[in-house]
Amino acid sequence: MDEIIQRILKNYPEPKLELNFNNPFELLVALILSARCTDKRTNIITEKLFKIYPTAKEMANAEFDDLNNLISSCSMHNTKAKNLIALSKALCEKHNCEVPDSFENLVKLPGVGAKTANILLAFGFGKPAVGVDTHVARVAYRIGLSENKKPEIVEDAIKQTVNKENRVAFFSGLILHGRHICKAKKPLCDKCFLNDICPRRID
Ligand code: SF4
Repeated sequence: MDEIIQRILKNYPEPKLELNFNNPFELLVALILSARCTDKRTNIITEKLFKIYPTAKEMANAEFDDLNNLISSCSMHNTKAKNLIALSKALCEKHNCEVPDSFENLVKLPGVGAKTANILLAFGFGKPAVGVDTHVARVAYRIGLSENKKPEIVEDAIKQTVNKENRVAFFSGLILHGRHICKAKKPLCDKCFLNDICPRRID
């Protein structure tokens, strides 16, 4: 497992997301929009969205129809528009229009679950949090790092085996590896740098 972890860190040395953002608020909005929507499409939407609603204060006062129209190419846009306005209102009412930097406060916000909260803590605030999405869970299981694909089990397994300094690079590396190499339906094992040592627990 040490060798597997080292190779992943060698191939994905820097923490990296494929979403565009400049601050925790933008990242939070982008993460909510990216659920069941590609990062590429999310980036197209947010480029315009952030010019009109750059902070929680502006978004809290958005008209539902205006915001909904701007994000209409995204799946579940009605729910997301509703959540983004409610979320921005909650930020302004409870956190002075800023994004809080604690897991407990983040998961109380509308539309924010554990995965979003942890990715936000890691990339918005530089904390050694571990965000577990479908790619992280799948790859962690296939390489034999986690006993199953349950997010809380995967998170614990990563925390127990990867040191704090490397956790964010590691889990974001698993996201990229899952998207581009260890794909859900047809993993590209022939092109994978773990090909000779991976237990390949594919089900
Ligand atoms: S060898 Fe195959 S199963 Fe293992 S991580 Fe690489 S692509 Fe995934």
